[in-house]
Amino acid sequence: MQQVHPVYAGMARTIFDVMSGLAREHGAINLGQGFPEEQGPPELIEAAARALREKSNQYPPGAGLQELREAVCHFYRDRQGLELTSEQVIVTSGATEAIAAAVLALVKTGDEVILFQPAYDAYAPMVRRAGGVPVSVPLAPPLWCYEAEPLEAAITPRTRLIMFNDPLNPAGTAASAAELAMLAEACIRHDLIAICDDVWEDVRFDGQVHRSLISMPGMADRAVKIGSAGKIFGLTGWKVGWLCAAPDMADLLGRAHQFLTYTTPPALQWAVAEGLAMPQSLVAPQREVWAASRQRLKAGLEGAGYGVLPNAATWFLCIDLAASGIALPDRDFSERAVREAGVASIPLSALFEGEDRPEHILRLCFTKPDDQLDEAVERLARFRLQMAR
Ligand code: GLN
Repeated sequence: MQQVHPVYAGMARTIFDVMSGLAREHGAINLGQGFPEEQGPPELIEAAARALREKSNQYPPGAGLQELREAVCHFYRDRQGLELTSEQVIVTSGATEAIAAAVLALVKTGDEVILFQPAYDAYAPMVRRAGGVPVSVPLAPPLWCYEAEPLEAAITPRTRLIMFNDPLNPAGTAASAAELAMLAEACIRHDLIAICDDVWEDVRFDGQVHRSLISMPGMADRAVKIGSAGKIFGLTGWKVGWLCAAPDMADLLGRAHQFLTYTTPPALQWAVAEGLAMPQSLVAPQREVWAASRQRLKAGLEGAGYGVLPNAATWFLCIDLAASGIALPDRDFSERAVREAGVASIPLSALFEGEDRPEHILRLCFTKPDDQLDEAVERLARFRLQMAR
């Protein structure tokens, strides 16, 4: 093990894998790792099966099938008013690969990279492995707002990039127009690039249309936008994502991507291209189910005495343990809940680095069948009474 790179030596497994493993081991209801329980839209499953039979099963172009790259452009034009050309889109094997390609392409040794926290747990190790230095800017619950002052305080002459996940996993909050303007202004003034992890852009419950940081004035040439079919269609195992950027930057990102996965299974690319072109009525039923599940879990948890934080997007709700009368730190609660109550969750402190982390917030995934949600609420209700005693 002496040869292991120091970034990975002694590193724990990702919390998502750990909690899913514990859920399997204890037969618990898994509200930890984010994935819907259902099969996904039948039209897309059918499209993928048809593509496997009828289309080529050999390497597609490294940057992705032209049809999918164009479908991504049309999708963003329709949904967000973004003007992109297909040469600006690079298809990746999921958003996690897109993040890796962007970090490898853009971060040089010694570059400082601003990470707002909580953050997806892949960001910091990837930045370090690329030779960069992650610099934390913690956000505060319950609203997790982006503020100019702490951001300015974290920026130095070595700062090169910000990583910005909006809507924000795990909190499920979405940045306001004023916050986007502040971030764009800071990027322009300090000559920073923004890696915009927009994977939750299409999973919103507040009726708002997603506005990406890349669309703010002056940002088109200094931002990378990352999207995910896994999130848009609830097909997390497909691992189809993409990077969008100005043509020169997209070309650079494609060079990093070509030596990671090189390409992504063509049948899935064909199916996602079909899906992105489908009228909204095809994904609307799924969205209605998710919205109802969100309400069901929220009402159930509140009825059981849990304090639920406000949110607008994603597949997650967060509960505030302190406001629920529970003094246990989030990690202890989470580890005991999966073993003793049979419900897996994600402790938010696992998605923070450094000292300045809240330890009283837990994330729960609600894209599960009603009977699982109801049973999970019953179990958590009983567990709360035991813990609050
Ligand atoms: N994005 C998923 C989540 O937040 C996790 C992805 C993963 O497990 N690698 O739950």
